[in-house]
Amino acid sequence: MSEIRKAAVIGAGVMGAGIAAHIANAGVEVLLLDIVPEGASNRSAIAEKAVERLLKAEPAAFMSKRAAKLVKTGNVEDDLDALADCDWIVEAVVERLDVKQALYKKIDTVRKPGTAVSSNTSTIPLAALIDGLSEGFGRDFLITHFFNPPRYMRLLEIVSGPATDPATVKRVSTFADVKLGKTVVNCKDTPGFIANRLGTQWMQLAVGEAFALGLTVEEADSVMGRPFGIPKTGVFGLMDLVGIDLMPHVLNSLQRALPKDDPFHKGTRDLPLIGEMIESGLTGRKGKGGFYRLN
Ligand code: NAD
Repeated sequence: MSEIRKAAVIGAGVMGAGIAAHIANAGVEVLLLDIVPEGASNRSAIAEKAVERLLKAEPAAFMSKRAAKLVKTGNVEDDLDALADCDWIVEAVVERLDVKQALYKKIDTVRKPGTAVSSNTSTIPLAALIDGLSEGFGRDFLITHFFNPPRYMRLLEIVSGPATDPATVKRVSTFADVKLGKTVVNCKDTPGFIANRLGTQWMQLAVGEAFALGLTVEEADSVMGRPFGIPKTGVFGLMDLVGIDLMPHVLNSLQRALPKDDPFHKGTRDLPLIGEMIESGLTGRKGKGGFYRLN
């Protein structure tokens, strides 16, 4: 199996929808699945709404109308069998090991052997993700960590394990490079890989220092945005974009994975403010706003 002619993305949230759109923009058919929303008459409403949002995104749509025709929407209860037709399955569901593993078990019953399966996890080690899964699944499994927004961020971290078939890594890396325009960086299977191990440090620093110095988020971003290499959003704007609700998952996962004496461990401490914001629905752009208000 050498080419990726059809892909699937599971999880139509901030990242999954963006990844699906980026694949469709490259002219490749993609199936976008999410869960069945409770009590909804339209069982594929989450994926359908995600596509609508991508077409309306400001300042520029994430996907052309032509590309949108390449995205087929569905849900993981009614449409799982359609994965048998896909050459690459990207998992982009919530950052929880139990949820991801339960999904992999289902995927493994329907995918054709040799189909690449990758996770967009921010922090969960590959070894933990495939623990208890079939040998064949381990051979075809890797981590493809896209950055937000997937259409514009060029970096793609790829993590493979000792069991991953090098041909699978090559197939996905080549597709990501040639079709998706990504700069692929092969990372070791270490907690947070490269970017998030570093990123959580400066996010903690930004929140801590802004509080200690009594800065507004605008003031903090003016000194911690461009100088940190994040020209447009700044650090606080980036957290709004990423989704504030993702932060505890990322911090907890790193906290569990890093030894206490690791210099990066102290950057994973809980931030009470983040918990309070999530409780009030301030999850960033996908919620009622975050550090910045929504217009
Ligand atoms: P999100 O909360 O925006 O979306 C997650 C989606 O997964 C939701 O629509 C949810 O309904 C769906 N879902 C949950 N369980 C499911 C299941 N069993 N089957 C199908 N769908 C399911 O999350 P996100 O921010 O897009 O993050 C997704 C993944 O990408 C996480 O692993 C996260 O760590 C990673 N990630 C996020 C970012 C970011 O900037 N947000 C960046 C890089 C990586």
